[in-house]
Amino acid sequence: MNLVDEIKNTIRDVADFPKPGIMFKDITPILENQKLCSAIVDGFISELKHKPDAIAGIESRGFLFGMLLANKLNVPFVMIRKAGKLPYKTMSYEYALEYGTATIEMHIDALKKDWNVLIHDDLLATGGTAEAAAQLVKRQGAKVNGFSFVVELGFLNGKEKLKTHSNNIICLAQY
Ligand code: AMP
Repeated sequence: MNLVDEIKNTIRDVADFPKPGIMFKDITPILENQKLCSAIVDGFISELKHKPDAIAGIESRGFLFGMLLANKLNVPFVMIRKAGKLPYKTMSYEYALEYGTATIEMHIDALKKDWNVLIHDDLLATGGTAEAAAQLVKRQGAKVNGFSFVVELGFLNGKEKLKTHSNNIICLAQY
């Protein structure tokens, strides 16, 4: 089976989570399959055009493959977290949600100026979260090298929102 089919066959669809009308793509069965996890990391590496200087993973499922990928590429991993979770001095970015706003944060010393940073999350939906992460990366004086996601919900057109930052958008499996 190829990687795309294996990812899709392993993901569990959970209807009406976290609220009615949402079909949640649950990646926990992927995490139980070590071979598939390794294949996903290799899948990202084979699609990378340039090796990034660091990987920034978005809380919380973006930490999983983000960290594995950074480790395999031998580059630093940086956490982008929801407001109030990081212990040291932070830089934050507030962005609009369907209802209200959300704030994400990064440690002020997480990235070095001019680093090329790959932003990683498990899933690309509307692109709002990854776009906010890109703004945060740029506020630290670093550059957006690209984005990587295990899954893309293509019908939500999230890629369009990210193209202003980078055309290098890797999505291993699309719905
Ligand atoms: P967005 O900002 O709309 O691109 O949403 C992306 C974030 O929300 C990611 O961190 C995803 O983990 C999560 N997310 C959004 N929709 C889903 C979904 N249908 N299944 C699983 N995770 C989702």
